[in-house]
This record gives sequence, structure tokens and C-alpha cells, in this order.
Amino acid sequence: MKINFREAKSIITKSNIPSVDFVINPYTGCQHRCIYCYAEFMIRFTGHKGEKWGEFLDIKKYDFDKIKPRKYNGKTLLLSSVTDPYLPLEKKYQNTRKILEKLVETEAELSILTKSKLVTRDIDLFQQYKNIKVGISISTLNDSFAKTIERGASKPSDRISALKEISEAGIDTYTFISPYFPEITDFKELITQTKEFTHEYMFENLNFRPHNVPRILQVIKENFPQHLPVYEELRKDRSYWESVEVAIRDFCKKEKLEYKIEFHHGGFSKT
Ligand code: SF4
Repeated sequence: MKINFREAKSIITKSNIPSVDFVINPYTGCQHRCIYCYAEFMIRFTGHKGEKWGEFLDIKKYDFDKIKPRKYNGKTLLLSSVTDPYLPLEKKYQNTRKILEKLVETEAELSILTKSKLVTRDIDLFQQYKNIKVGISISTLNDSFAKTIERGASKPSDRISALKEISEAGIDTYTFISPYFPEITDFKELITQTKEFTHEYMFENLNFRPHNVPRILQVIKENFPQHLPVYEELRKDRSYWESVEVAIRDFCKKEKLEYKIEFHHGGFSKT
């Protein structure tokens, strides 16, 4: 992992994600190295052309005193969108913690999203916020498959334990079942194992992009060859996702859960 220190012009930036006003990315790059990562396009915009996602990390250097918490009142903030706020190197550099310390007085709705158990370190700060929710994203309960698809992230069971601890500390939580891997993601079991301490569920399907298709198909071929035809068929027939949505909706209604489905139809994009 190549570590760089780079001055950042800003640390809280306007978002083009629907329903999110600002995003906060304490680092450029990501140590989790998910095979499906949608943030790899950042390579082009951050001076890392020719490098591989997951092999560099820029520690943003910023005067955190410039953060004005009240400026975001009434807005929605997401930490993070193109990295994970609780990367292993966050332990050492603490950019996320420094940002959270400065934002405490905000009345914005702050959403934290991670795949790391390190998130529990900041419970003391979360408890000082008026409007915060903390979520984990998770695709599978299978440790070995998780290690294959999200190489640097915490084990699924550790993510779930972290969420439980956060909820027990009195903080609103959500479970983001994402990305949904056809035939592999057992969303009912994920819900069963998290519903006692999850206030809201969100679902997102696996999105294929030109850069991730070969990696995903290779991993499915090696680990679940019996499901390969389904993945290949998804290129032509989008109805699979509709049937998954119906199943999720029916289950969530039956269980009386708060939920949002954010499936991108088709699951393929040329962009
Ligand atoms: S955690 Fe997010 S940004 Fe990091 S590699 Fe995985 S998908 Fe990409």
C-alpha cells in the first residue's frame, strides 16, 4: 500500500447522490479492495492514473478547524461515499475521528456507512450528535466469500456485532444489504440476524461496470460455478432483479420493517 499525504481543498463536498446533500471522504483510495467497487473511477480524478485501486491511500491533510458544523443544519451528510471512514489506517491517522469531533454541534442528518468494526471506537462521539444514524453494509454471512469479495473489510460477524454494540449505546442504526449477489445473498437470514438492533434496512443490487465484470464473473466461477449462468443471463434479462425486489418487499412487509430498495434496474451500466 502506497501512502501519500495530500492537501485537500475541502473535506465536505456537495453530493450528486439522490437524497444526500454532502459527502465526507476522509481518504482518497480504499483498503477494503472490494471486487465490485464502484468508486474506482476516482483513480482518474485524483492523479492516480495507472495505479490500482486498493494499492494506494491518500491521507487528506486539512485544517479541520475550518469545518463549520452549523453550516449543514437541515442537510443530509454521508460519511463516506467513495472510501470507508473506518479503514485499518484510520486507527493511525484518525481523519474520520477528527472530522466527527468538529461536526458534533451540527443539526444535519449524519449517516455513517462502513464495513469495519473499528466504527465502535467512535461511539462516544456518536452519542453527542442530535441526528445521526450508523450503518454497516453487508452482502453475505459467509466469512470466506466475504474475504474474497471485500478483501480488507471486517468479517460479517464482526460488522454485525459492531452494529449491535452501537444500537445498545442508544444510536440509530441501519443495515445496508449491498451489494445483493444473485443466488448468494441470503437477505432473510441477514435480517433475522440483525433485526433486533437495526432500525432501518436498505437494499442495493450488484451493479456491473466494465471494470468489474471480469472480476465478478471469475469469482463466481471459482466459488459458485452453479450460479454462473444466472450472472451471465443478467446481461440480457433484467427480470431477475424485479423478482428479488418483490421478494424483499413481501418479506419486509410481513416483518413490519422500515426499508428502502435502491435497485438500479438492469444492474449493468456502460458508464
Ligand atoms: S469499501 Fe466501498 S470504496 Fe472501499 S473498496 Fe469497498 S466498495 Fe470500494
